[in-house]
Amino acid sequence: MTELRNFVGGRFVDGGAAFDDINPVDGSLVATVHEASAELVDSAVRAARRAVDGVWGRCPAAERVRLLRRIADLIDERFDDLLAAEVADTGKPAPLAAELDITRAAANFRAAADIVAAAGLDSFLTDKALNYAIRKPVGVVAVIVPWNLPLLLLTWKVAPALASGNAVVVKPSEETPATATLLAEIIAAAGVPDGVYNVVHGFGPGSAGESLTRHPGIDAVTFTGESRTGATIMRAVADRVRPVSFELGGKNAAIVFDDADLGEAIDGLARSTFTNTGQICLCTERIYVQRGVFDEVVAGLAERARSLRFGRPDDPATTTGPLISQQHKEKVLSYYDIAEREGATLVAGGGVPDLDAGLAKGSWIQPALWTGLDNGSRIMREEIFGPVAAIAPFDTEEEAVKLANDSDYGLASAVWTTNLERGHRVAGAMNVGMSWLNTWYLRDLRSPFGGNKLSGIGREGGAHSLHFYSETTNVCVKL
Ligand code: NAD
Repeated sequence: MTELRNFVGGRFVDGGAAFDDINPVDGSLVATVHEASAELVDSAVRAARRAVDGVWGRCPAAERVRLLRRIADLIDERFDDLLAAEVADTGKPAPLAAELDITRAAANFRAAADIVAAAGLDSFLTDKALNYAIRKPVGVVAVIVPWNLPLLLLTWKVAPALASGNAVVVKPSEETPATATLLAEIIAAAGVPDGVYNVVHGFGPGSAGESLTRHPGIDAVTFTGESRTGATIMRAVADRVRPVSFELGGKNAAIVFDDADLGEAIDGLARSTFTNTGQICLCTERIYVQRGVFDEVVAGLAERARSLRFGRPDDPATTTGPLISQQHKEKVLSYYDIAEREGATLVAGGGVPDLDAGLAKGSWIQPALWTGLDNGSRIMREEIFGPVAAIAPFDTEEEAVKLANDSDYGLASAVWTTNLERGHRVAGAMNVGMSWLNTWYLRDLRSPFGGNKLSGIGREGGAHSLHFYSETTNVCVKL
């Protein structure tokens, strides 16, 4: 049986208590995980502090860039190990994890290396003074991430944090602890000094997550997860006024105009609703369709929902994996009941698939597509985080923009139209961090990523990451 240990000061260490890492495909045990006590979290923060105060703090940017590129190469070399670990933890189809998760992990390190290698300084020269800003690491950064894209979201934060000269203490999700642990081996093998990358395993409240965010030695917190958890973390760091970067929940809208290429739009909607069983923060859960093409879009998407194939991750016929856990399945199913109570019309799915006995203990769920709900319904307002969407008609562009923006969240949106003038206008009017036009989840890692309102605080990506993971000292020289 595999055991997953904490990684502190360059060494794998046991924790006091242990918990199970469960495969959501069939409920089997993947690994036993050592939970970090408050004392071990303290050791990790101290190890990180020693690293930034010591050899890592003196490491020139060019050497950090070289190490980051080496980490990316080692991720490529250990691709199969990382893939197997991610698939066992999440149950997602192996081709999806290969393309989406592991490939992006290496790309995250390369992108962060490129950005730091090319970064200049702000300087302003007048006849009176020269001002220039020196960029310095923030120090010890707590990195807390969720289970839906474990290695992708972890490396999205760790790479720019290390590129900027910080040390990190990482708390992966209790549901998906494996790849963060493997990454420790890779980072050590690349030659990164001890204490720069630390991993503490455990849960949130009353466990490693809370110990980490409350620790006085943490200089900043970067967090991806639920909006409610973000609020708790803000309170934990408020007295010490520590900076936070939050990538939180979403209730993302898509708008389909009647002049859209409907084949492409339905393909795009199917991807944005069902990819990773709907467990991507950017997934679409609200779809507004211009009335003239409403029936066609609903029928097309319903057909795509019915064509999903559930199965083991290594079966080439599998399109769709399970939800992450039984607990999450209960939550998503509770929304299937809420939709019924709110008077929705179910146009596809809405239950639990009938699978062979070997998968009976997995967290499997059918997708659900609903019509007949208005923007005030809970289904239209609350993040469900499953393979679901509520579809509603609209008549005018103005109405579509209003409906899409009528949300407590503001993470992402997708607009489908062949009228590019309108496309730019509507995409720009979305009150979200990422607005796609005639596509979804097409990413350039240099572009800003983050959300408005309940969806987050700040942006990461490219120069935005450098800003968060650095402090600046402005030097003013009188001339
Ligand atoms: P979660 O908030 O329950 O947990 C995320 C992480 O925070 C886990 O590691 C967890 O152990 C830890 N945690 C929980 N409570 C904590 C506390 N009190 N103190 C410190 N740490 C704590 O989220 P989840 O269920 O793992 O992930 C799903 C959520 O993540 C969804 O809301 C989704 O939209 C969001 N998400 C957002 C983005 C984005 O970029 N905006 C990306 C992916 C996921």
